[in-house]
Amino acid sequence: MTVLARPVPTSDNAMWVAFYAHCARGELRFQRCEQCAGWRHPPRPMCPRCHSARWEWVAATGRGRVHSWTIVHQAFHPAFAADVPYAILLGEMEEGVRLIARLSKTDMPNARLALDLPLKVEFEPVSNEIALPTFSIARAGDAAPGDTVPSEPEG
Ligand SMILES: [Zn+2]
Repeated sequence: MTVLARPVPTSDNAMWVAFYAHCARGELRFQRCEQCAGWRHPPRPMCPRCHSARWEWVAATGRGRVHSWTIVHQAFHPAFAADVPYAILLGEMEEGVRLIARLSKTDMPNARLALDLPLKVEFEPVSNEIALPTFSIARAGDAAPGDTVPSEPEG
């Protein structure tokens, strides 16, 4: 039986290449405008607030909260057939940007997803050059000061 390789992100857009290169080093970085300090993601050349084209990559906290999610029950690519069901989350990050990423395989089996559930970003290597950001549910000790974290599931 032929096992199909997973498709991985490819782009000739230098900003996406840089985003995934940071992820491959275990760094979550978003663009931040050098003029108004506004964060943005997905990567793009101009600030949507002040229209400046000056920006830099800045390390993000990797912390966010569940804004929305969907559960994938049907694999639309054979390479993902063994993974279903899995969750794709839209995370509202502390920087004010939103990031789409899969819920970690570790958290998925018992996940009780809810709006505003605290998240942290981890990285799943998928090739020598690419690591994908994934979300894990934040636990006590992961959270920012003042955050409330969910108690461990009973049973
Ligand atoms: Zn700006």
